[in-house]
Amino acid sequence: MLDEKTPTYPPSDAFASTAHIDAATYEEMYAASIEDPEGFWGEHGKRIDWIKPYSIVKNTNFDFGNVSIKWYEDGTLNVAANCIDRHLEARGDQTAIIWEPDDPTEDALHISYRDLHREVCEMANVLKALGVGKGDRVVLYLPMIPEAAYAMLACARIGAIHSIVFAGFSADALGARINGCDAKVVITADGAPRGGRVTNLKDNVNQALLNVIHTCQSLVVRRTGQQVAWRSETDHWLHEMKETVSDDCPAEEIGAEDPLFILYTSGSTGQPKGVVHTSGGYLVYAAMTHQMTFDYHDGDVYWCTADVGWVTGHSYIVYGPLANGGTTVMFEGVPTYPDASRFWQVCEKHKVNQFYTAPTAIRALMGKGKEFVEKSDLSSLKTLGTVGEPINPEAWNWYNEVVGKGTCPIVDTWWQTETGGHLLTPLPGATATKPGSAMTPFFGIKPVVLEPESGKIIDDDPAEGVLCIADSWPAQMRTVWEDHPRFEATYFQQYKGYYFTGDGCRRDEDGHYWITGRVDDVINVSGHRMGTAEVESALVAHEAVSEAAVVGYPHDVKGQGIYAYVTLMSNKEPTDELRKELEVWVRSEIGPIAKPDLIQWAPGLPKTRSGKIMRRILRKIAENDYGSLGDTSTLAEPEVVDNLIENRMNR
Ligand code: ATP
Ligand code: MG
Repeated sequence: MLDEKTPTYPPSDAFASTAHIDAATYEEMYAASIEDPEGFWGEHGKRIDWIKPYSIVKNTNFDFGNVSIKWYEDGTLNVAANCIDRHLEARGDQTAIIWEPDDPTEDALHISYRDLHREVCEMANVLKALGVGKGDRVVLYLPMIPEAAYAMLACARIGAIHSIVFAGFSADALGARINGCDAKVVITADGAPRGGRVTNLKDNVNQALLNVIHTCQSLVVRRTGQQVAWRSETDHWLHEMKETVSDDCPAEEIGAEDPLFILYTSGSTGQPKGVVHTSGGYLVYAAMTHQMTFDYHDGDVYWCTADVGWVTGHSYIVYGPLANGGTTVMFEGVPTYPDASRFWQVCEKHKVNQFYTAPTAIRALMGKGKEFVEKSDLSSLKTLGTVGEPINPEAWNWYNEVVGKGTCPIVDTWWQTETGGHLLTPLPGATATKPGSAMTPFFGIKPVVLEPESGKIIDDDPAEGVLCIADSWPAQMRTVWEDHPRFEATYFQQYKGYYFTGDGCRRDEDGHYWITGRVDDVINVSGHRMGTAEVESALVAHEAVSEAAVVGYPHDVKGQGIYAYVTLMSNKEPTDELRKELEVWVRSEIGPIAKPDLIQWAPGLPKTRSGKIMRRILRKIAENDYGSLGDTSTLAEPEVVDNLIENRMNR
């Protein structure tokens, strides 16, 4: 919680002295980026290679009704050439991708930039042979295998637009997305091993395509070797087609504003939105944030544990690291298979220097106990990152002490599918961090805090309200796929002249930013507005609690009551005494107003594949209105919902 006691964690002098950005440089560069965005981004645009250099840097308009966002619009480039070809001369033999399989007894792969070039060229030629060209859409429904990165880069190489669908999504969700973008080809695998179990991806594709009216071919990677049902007219094995094509494929000249990919948001607040990102500005920003937020240096081994089906996998497994000529780890498995030491074993095995994961994973591993961490040598770690949700101080402290041994700066990166890259984040060599705060804006980012009702800017600190961004940045989404009116209505209508993030936030006395959760998740108890994240954070601070999700529900007296779903540590029993104890606990941590009215024991919480709790579903159950849960296609484990409905507390 925010008070005078909030400790700060400055980087060590040793870290700061070798960092790309130290405190003084941050101040100076940030000021320059705000005073003269054109000059700043004109200069930093040069970190990537252009075929035709740009003369126009920024052309953006946030006025509702005329929203238009263009960066480097007259420049041309090829994203894949930036991620591969330009590194070949200096570091062709350097490892680009380290692939770590689900099963630890299977061999890891080290894919050099030269290998990557060959693989991507072959896959690009295969796509061309299937009739895919510039501007065509290709859906990827793949496990976390190198072919997922090859497929993304192969599309980029020929100017096709990729749309990745999580391999954990159902056939229905997949079919809707194939239809949604009129994909010519879907790239998949026979099966996807994950946590020791196999998902039959090809079967799901077959089922999804039953609901697709246009012709969509499938290109199938052989991963498990299992039997699959084959549609002889339109199915192709990648390994067979690779034999028939050349291993060289020229990189197309692509306009800076040509789409690179479509990606759906997680759907935690509503119907997922088909976010469109373009080529030039996106790559500049992904590369720059990857280098500076993690303080990535040449030769470092960097690991982001996300899935490529999430934006984090796009910007921070594939595009950012590879544009920087880095070595990026791709992990097929899950943090708890074969046991809860897997992440740390992989860190030791590949001598990982920067490690980036989600609070949900940190909390889950914290719940298993630190013995699992202590078995591995983590001395290679330099920077730790987190993304996806507010991180509660307990989890932050555990990450810092148990994983980082108190020597690794933690970067709590706040951003969205829509933003393409980090907007609020500490920089590890520059920022004295506070546990739970995303701290400071990245270069060129102008955050503002608005009063929720009036929309008036709150200039003074401390401030609390809704988080908006006052001006564009190069990786901003350009539109919702084939629905520009929805784009404007979602992000630019409510607070005129600003990009509305949908998140609530607090700026403290020092001007540092704290995300308080979704604006939709603010609850109003007897006239007191409260972010659900605050109550959740208090709950998980209790030693018996592993995870908590809090929502409001209609309450006769208070207007809204507080309904808490609580997952206990694996060694704790749910009892009425414990329930009482938690009520008293939250009362003493925050105040009487925050005491939960109802606490339901939840063996599991409904989460998106990226680990976010779907509070909108929990809200429905808390309201005893569980008949219409809305879009649940992006849930990781739909079964947990039935258990929660069955044991609901408000009937
Ligand atoms: P939808 O927009 O469909 O509801 P979503 O918002 O969950 O889905 P994402 O783009 O994956 O989809 O998530 C972005 C959101 O995640 C942010 O708006 C914010 O609420 C949350 N978030 C991400 N990183 C952080 C962070 N470091 N601290 C706090 N919240 C974060
Ligand atoms: Mg969102």
